[in-house]
Amino acid sequence: MPASSPALSINLDALAANYRFFQSLAHRAQTAGVVKADGYGLGAEAVATALLNAGCQTFFVARVEEGAALRAFLDKIHADAGIYIFGGVLPGEEEAFLSARLKPVLNSIPQIEIWGAAARRQGRKLPAALHVDTGMTRFGLDAAGRRRLAQAPDLMAPIDVTYLMSHLACASDPTHPQNSVQLENFRAARALQPHAPASLSASAGAMLGNAYVFDLIRPGIGLYGAGPMDAPDARLKTVVTATAPIIQIRNAEAGAAVGYGATHTLARASRIAIVNVGYADGYLRAASNAAKVWLKGAEAPVAGRVSMDLIAIDVTDFAENALAPGEHVELFGPNMPVEDVAAASGSITYELFTSLGRRYARHYRYNASAWVPPGREDL
Ligand SMILES: *Cc1c(COP(=O)(O)O)cnc(C)c1O
Repeated sequence: MPASSPALSINLDALAANYRFFQSLAHRAQTAGVVKADGYGLGAEAVATALLNAGCQTFFVARVEEGAALRAFLDKIHADAGIYIFGGVLPGEEEAFLSARLKPVLNSIPQIEIWGAAARRQGRKLPAALHVDTGMTRFGLDAAGRRRLAQAPDLMAPIDVTYLMSHLACASDPTHPQNSVQLENFRAARALQPHAPASLSASAGAMLGNAYVFDLIRPGIGLYGAGPMDAPDARLKTVVTATAPIIQIRNAEAGAAVGYGATHTLARASRIAIVNVGYADGYLRAASNAAKVWLKGAEAPVAGRVSMDLIAIDVTDFAENALAPGEHVELFGPNMPVEDVAAASGSITYELFTSLGRRYARHYRYNASAWVPPGREDL
């Protein structure tokens, strides 16, 4: 990547520290690593390497292709770990699951039937997690599905339920009454598989207290350093720093309009820096006239609309000789919290991370004595 590219610094030591933080919340329970969407956009192989080194034995991804790619990587480095697919098994995917030793999260009666039939063809029980819906109305068996299972125990006979799981809809708001409602529903649903270990919580849920931990927690966003309650959390270390270089600094008269749509008119004679990042790099267009960047120890506001490849920032308050083209501004990172940029953009940290795109020069930071896979000496 040329020096004019935006840059991502990804701190795998911080990621490992965040994993250990979740382990400390989990006590004796296990801590999985959620690495869907290419490790929240940060590189699933790099993230998985750091998590494996930190002791992680269970991964979750969303789709079967993600699981197959992760399995190929783990096999290449002779590492073993359980890989679960949140989306479950769809018709025609059974072979891909079996050959990559993937475990579906079974979300519905049809998925249970597909996996049960695959088990019968294999002549052995097949492992899977069973998802019950406790109030999110997305994945998982509803009340009718649970009644069906209770009446037809044969459906589950060929399946080894390694976890009974559910997912909280409102855990990022600890005061939301739905949290305790879902907790009670989950406790009641355990009667369906009384011997199966249980897993309810992602990052935010794990922070709601011991009652929400059960046997396995499934953090994603918190591992990547973003506060699960939508605000910075001092217990988590910053993993991702995104920067982009100033490519031009210009003067503009009072009354001049900045950017597409002329949405920002300068109230005073100003200096505007043009920065090499835009919505094609996941710097969301909704950040127009709203977000701030950090440079030289201070904030500078985005002026006007975010373009595909560029933003304009107002640097009038910076000393004239302090800034020069080539200088990188911090889009988010230790000085400009990603939670604040997300909020200013009407979004969430998850969307910012997974939208980063391919035009960043990526630098991984990792403790020199950590084991890295052959061919990944860049970590
Ligand atoms: C994405 C996801 C997680 C991880 O959630 P975070 O909020 O990123 O910690 C856990 N469980 C399920 C079912 C998910 O879809």
